[in-house]
Amino acid sequence: MITEHRVLNPATEGLVATVPATTVAEVDAAVTRAAAAQQVWAALAPADRARLLRRFAVLVDEHGERLARLEVTEAGHTLGNARWEAGNVRDLLDYAAGGVERLTGRQIPVPGGIDVTFLEPLGVIGVIAPWNFPLPIAAWGLAPALAAGNAVLLKPAETTPLTSLHLAGLAREAGLPEHLFQVLPGAGEVAGRALVEHPGVAKIVFTGSTGVGKQIMAACADRVKRLTLELGGKSPNIVFADADIETAAATAPLSFLDNAGQDCCARSRILVQRSVHERFLELLAPALAAVVVGDPSDEKTQMGPLISRTQLERVRSYVPEGAAGIRGSAPEGPGFWFPPTVLTDVPADARVATEEVFGPVAVVLPFEDEADAVRLANATEYGLAGSIWTRDVGRALRVSRAVRAGNLSVNSHSAVRYWTPFGGYKQSGLGRELGPDALAAFTETKNVFIGTEA
Ligand code: NAD
Repeated sequence: MITEHRVLNPATEGLVATVPATTVAEVDAAVTRAAAAQQVWAALAPADRARLLRRFAVLVDEHGERLARLEVTEAGHTLGNARWEAGNVRDLLDYAAGGVERLTGRQIPVPGGIDVTFLEPLGVIGVIAPWNFPLPIAAWGLAPALAAGNAVLLKPAETTPLTSLHLAGLAREAGLPEHLFQVLPGAGEVAGRALVEHPGVAKIVFTGSTGVGKQIMAACADRVKRLTLELGGKSPNIVFADADIETAAATAPLSFLDNAGQDCCARSRILVQRSVHERFLELLAPALAAVVVGDPSDEKTQMGPLISRTQLERVRSYVPEGAAGIRGSAPEGPGFWFPPTVLTDVPADARVATEEVFGPVAVVLPFEDEADAVRLANATEYGLAGSIWTRDVGRALRVSRAVRAGNLSVNSHSAVRYWTPFGGYKQSGLGRELGPDALAAFTETKNVFIGTEA
C-alpha cells in the first residue's frame, strides 16, 4: 500500500515534498471529527459565520503570493495564472460569505395555515479535486459548502496537495472551528473512495475525469448520496466568416493552451467556416509561434509544462509523427514539455478530434454553414464550454441556444466566473457550481406547514 506521495516540480522534475497518504481508518476518524465541528458551526449566528469566512478570505489574500508560488512549484502553472487563482479563492470566500445571511427559505401561500421552507445544511461534504486547478477547484466546493453551514473534507489530487494543506492552516488561523475543514491527501482509490462510500458524508463534489466520475456516480447511487460532477470537455471554438477574423485567430492559441491545455474548458476543436479557413490558418500560425513557453515562475511565460511524465506520454499518443499542422516551441531537457500544436488535416472522427487530450493540442475543422457548425459542435459526448465568433447578433444567439454545452461565450473565451453558474451538459457533468445559487446546492429544502385552524 502507498503510504506517501512524492510531489514533483513539473518544470524540473525535482522533489518538492513528500506527503503522507491518508488511510481508510483516518478518513473515518476525520468524518467523525467533521460531523462534530459542523454542529458547532451550524449553531453559530449567520453574521458570525460570515465574519469568520471574510477573515479567512483576508488571510488568503495576505498569503496570496505564497499560495501562488506553491501552485507554480507543484502544478507548473505560470506565475500570472497562479496569482489569479489565489485571488480567485479569496473572491470565492468573500462572495460566499455574502450569501450566509441571505440564505433564505420561502413563505408559500396555502389554505389553512402558513407554509415556510428552510434551507438546511447537508452535514459533511466530501470535495474530491483534480490536479489541473488545485486552488480554485478546491474553493468552488469549499466556500459555498462552508457558507451554507456544512463541514468540508477535501481530497486533493495525489500530485498537488500542498496548496490545499496551506489553505486548511489559514482556515484555522482565521478562527473557523477545529476540524470544520480538513484536507485528506492520498490516493483516489483509497482516501477518495473512502469518502464516497462513507455513510457520514452527505454529498460528494467531484471534479475530474469522466471515467472516474461515472464510478463515483454508481457508488453514490447505492446510498442515494448527493453528488455534483464536473467532468471532461472537448469544447468548440466556432469562427464564422462574418467574425473579426484577426481577433479570433489572435485569441485562439491561449483558448486551448492556457495551463498547457490541461483545462476542462480548453477550446480544442477550432471550427472555421470554409470561406475563411485559409485566411484563419495564415493568421493563426504567427499567433501560435508568439506564445511564450518556458519557466512558469517567469512573469513573461504564457505556457508551462504538463503535470507529469504520464500526462506527457498520453498527450504524445494523440499526435502522430509528421502529422500536418502548426507547431510552437518548447524547452528541451528536464521537465514535462510539449509544444503548442494545431493539427490542420484530421478527420472529424479522429481520436484527437473527439477525445479530451488534456494537453496543448487542438484541431482545426472546416464547416460550410451555420447548421453544419452546430452539427459539428454538438458531435461530441461532452458539453462543457464553447466560443462563438460572429458579428451577427442574431446568429450569436441562435448558435448559443443550439450548442448543447453549459458555458458559452460570444466573441470571447471566458468560461469560469465566480458570479455565474458553471457546469456541463451530457457527459461533462451533473449539477452546477458557482454563481448566485452555489450555496443552495449544499442544502436540503425542508418544508414546514403550520396549521392556523386548530
Ligand atoms: P481523475 O479523475 O484521475 O482524478 C480526480 C480526483 O479523483 C483525484 O483527486 C483522484 O485522486 C480522485 N480519484 C481517482 N479515483 C478515484 C476513486 N475511485 N474514488 C474517488 N476518488 C478518486 O482526474 P485528473 O486526471 O486529476 O483531472 C483531469 C480531469 O478533470 C480531466 O478530465 C478534466 O477535464 C477534468 N476537469 C473537469 C473540470 C470541470 O469543471 N468540468 C475542471 C477541471 C478538471
